Amino acid sequence: MYGCTGRCLRVNLSKGKHSVEEIDPELLGKFVGGRGLGVKVLSDEVDPKTDPLGPENKLIFVSGPLVGTGAVTGASCNAVTKSALSGAIACAKMRGHFGAELKFAGLDMIIIEGKAESPVILSILDNKINIRPALESWGRTTSETEVVFKKSLEDKWAARETYLVSIGPAGEKSVPLANIVNDGFLSVGGAGIGAVMGSKNLKAIAVKGSHSLSVADGDRFVRVVTNLINKLNSAPFTSQSMRAWGSAFFTGICYQKGVLPYRNFQAAAFPESKDIGTEALSNAFALRSRGCFACPIACIKKTDVSNPLFRAKGMAPTYLAIGALGLNCGVTDLTTIGLANMICAEMGLDPIAAGGTVATAMELVEKGFTDRDALKLELRFGQGEDLLQALTLMATKKGHAKRIGKGGDALAKEYGQSKRFMGVKGMPVAPFDPRCIQGMGLHFATCNYGPHHLYAYTFFEEVLNVHEGLDPWSTEGKPELVKQYQDMTAIMDSLGLCNWTLMGLKFNNFVPMINSCLGTEYRAEDLLRIGDRIWNQERLFNIWAGFDHTHDTLPGRFFDEPIQDGPAQGQVSKVDEMLPAYYELRGWSERGQPLTETLKALGL
Ligand code: SF4
Repeated sequence: MYGCTGRCLRVNLSKGKHSVEEIDPELLGKFVGGRGLGVKVLSDEVDPKTDPLGPENKLIFVSGPLVGTGAVTGASCNAVTKSALSGAIACAKMRGHFGAELKFAGLDMIIIEGKAESPVILSILDNKINIRPALESWGRTTSETEVVFKKSLEDKWAARETYLVSIGPAGEKSVPLANIVNDGFLSVGGAGIGAVMGSKNLKAIAVKGSHSLSVADGDRFVRVVTNLINKLNSAPFTSQSMRAWGSAFFTGICYQKGVLPYRNFQAAAFPESKDIGTEALSNAFALRSRGCFACPIACIKKTDVSNPLFRAKGMAPTYLAIGALGLNCGVTDLTTIGLANMICAEMGLDPIAAGGTVATAMELVEKGFTDRDALKLELRFGQGEDLLQALTLMATKKGHAKRIGKGGDALAKEYGQSKRFMGVKGMPVAPFDPRCIQGMGLHFATCNYGPHHLYAYTFFEEVLNVHEGLDPWSTEGKPELVKQYQDMTAIMDSLGLCNWTLMGLKFNNFVPMINSCLGTEYRAEDLLRIGDRIWNQERLFNIWAGFDHTHDTLPGRFFDEPIQDGPAQGQVSKVDEMLPAYYELRGWSERGQPLTETLKALGL
């Protein structure tokens, strides 16, 4: 297939050996690449019941076929493994430049196996592949790791063009909330993946390449890419809001619609809304824009933070940081939220998982189930210093923060208060209250990766009303919307495209670019069918790992406790109403098992 290199690097860290293999073209035909290919390889090579932190678990990095070709937003590399936090399948979406550089190094995929005897860095500098000791980097933050590695390269020009994915202290200590970070500051979703990487004693992977990629029909490809760039440059969300603020612009809209969580989802409104909007963001930070490879939107906002506690350069708060690390912990000060976000990126903690865990702990303290003496840690809603201290201690497993570093689910269970953990499949809910955005709630309940918005952004239709004016509180049409977005995201992740583009484009718009790049004749429905296949393959992995229909739900609070305040007052989740229709659309039994005929039709 055009766009792909067709090559995979297999690294066995236990043996200190590596080899380059050809990727089976049939697998690329069925799963395309990226997330789909990673999921299929993991399913074929790893026992779903294996210990996520054991050497038998594998960690797969895989770029999609559009990545590095110049296709609009063709930048995404996925990291796939079995999660150390949930025990389910995990997939992180790495944006930035790492994925394209991997392709330029002549590789679509890296499969990491086993466990190194001592900490190492995998270095892929064009055709030179080395497993190098990481003693100088071990114990360092993610940005320090990048600096130390680049300094070690003799060719300073090549060092500038080298991109890394690394873990911080949290991953080194296999904290289940650990994630991976790429390009030195981009926090990647997927809690537990950093812990898997740390369990393998793999501190980082560095990549630099100079191969070129070919597309099937260059003239047509350039024409359709130009057309898509023009569309993105004229759509309001992608040309203005995202470009100016990144996803932080959602905050005001979510406040108006009552979607923002507050204090562990105990409320949907908070009094200081004016202090966290876009105006406040630009008062608090000097924002610099940065884009991923081949992206005209450039939604990433970098900034510097200097404070007696912490000094760093990194991402300005996104909506996710404002919701998960800020408001859900009762913290409304943007500078503190920015610091918390940078601590997560530097220490290698997943912001949703870390924020959800701290919010759970704060509620346990507030309700008197535990206290400062038991936790040896002050954890009060609204106290920024408590949040910052907890994050730093959790990441380093220092003191008694070890206890909350196990995650909100484990902590709440320890006190017999499971219902205080606002999560699904062991993962905290992303900061969108599912009581007042029903489609997103159904997605959270059924998502193979836990309740994460990035695997089906129904928010675009339910709240932003980009293409359809759907009522967020209604269940009408939501099972169809959720399935469509889940399948669409699965195929976009597999091709290597960014979902944010759906704020300016329809999925159909991508089809000419995909075909002119890959030399295929896909119709939109063919691609969605591949997305459906990938979703079912992930579902099968989770079923084999021990998950079933009883895990397709939300925490009781979202059913039993109507929203108390704000515009969505009185709303509760109606997931149970929508679930049977969703199962039927998926071709699953009433107990959420894919039917034999469904699997057969999907070629699984
Ligand atoms: S929209 Fe943002 S996250 Fe997506 S590719 Fe562009 S810069 Fe990266």
